[in-house]
Amino acid sequence: MTHVTSTPWNRAWLYFYRSMLWKCPVCGVSPIFRPISQVRSLRAWFETLPGCPRCDYVYDREPGYFMLAFWMFDYSAAALFGIALYFTLRHYFILSTWSLLLLTLIPVSIFAILIARHSKAVYLAMDHYFFRDEERPEQ
Ligand SMILES: [Zn+2]
Repeated sequence: MTHVTSTPWNRAWLYFYRSMLWKCPVCGVSPIFRPISQVRSLRAWFETLPGCPRCDYVYDREPGYFMLAFWMFDYSAAALFGIALYFTLRHYFILSTWSLLLLTLIPVSIFAILIARHSKAVYLAMDHYFFRDEERPEQ
């Protein structure tokens, strides 16, 4: 575990990389979420762990902390996916309006649930990069 003191781009890339692995943005070791094998409900899929046991970095800082994560990343990515899927289906198949809606909305809903963890992890990394990086002592 090293504190990165290199260029801002290197730090941004490092934090992004850690977020893709669902790891703590500070130490890059501890998981942000419960392992998939221990997820028993949809709620457990969305919940972050309280914080990092190695570096004490708090993941879920307050109620509603991750709302922006959903608006910025989850919903926008799902909307882009849905638009692409809609026009692809419309271009290649002759479908009724209801079929087109169902074949678009169901995969978009599943996609949004699947990327929810990545959305939270990227938001956490971004928050750490822009607002909290200087709060941490060098390790
Ligand atoms: Zn950590």
